[in-house]
Amino acid sequence: MAPAYDDQNIFARILRGEIPNQTVAENEHALAFRDIAPKAPVHVLVIPKGKYVSFDDFSAKASPEEITGFMRLCAEVAQLEGVTLDGGNGYRAITNAGADGVQEVPHFHLHIMGGRMMGPMVT
Ligand code: IMP
Repeated sequence: MAPAYDDQNIFARILRGEIPNQTVAENEHALAFRDIAPKAPVHVLVIPKGKYVSFDDFSAKASPEEITGFMRLCAEVAQLEGVTLDGGNGYRAITNAGADGVQEVPHFHLHIMGGRMMGPMVT
């Protein structure tokens, strides 16, 4: 069974304004902020504002409006950070899920990374 959502996870606390973040962009359904330990010159995390543990949870339970809002914010981040193929050099967008995915924070998030050539997919 999927784990229950933990209201004390660090991204829930960021959404409640209890912990500061470096916001890159925001809309009604999602927030994008800089990763605290960036692994690339561009490393932004995009999170839905709703309480979803993982990609599985989000894709199963979020409304079409939430999913669209989330995806649009991801695209906006790539534009703002100058990494789209339209003028930039590209980027990687990944999500880690569960133990084998080495997910540290149990609130669904997408990593948008760029500004250098990424390494192999399996690390
Ligand atoms: P995960 O393995 O996909 O769950 O990655 C979690 C990411 O959250 C890691 O890249 C961390 O560096 C990042 N992170 C943890 N705490 C914070 C924070 O307070 N602000 C921004 N990023 C964070």
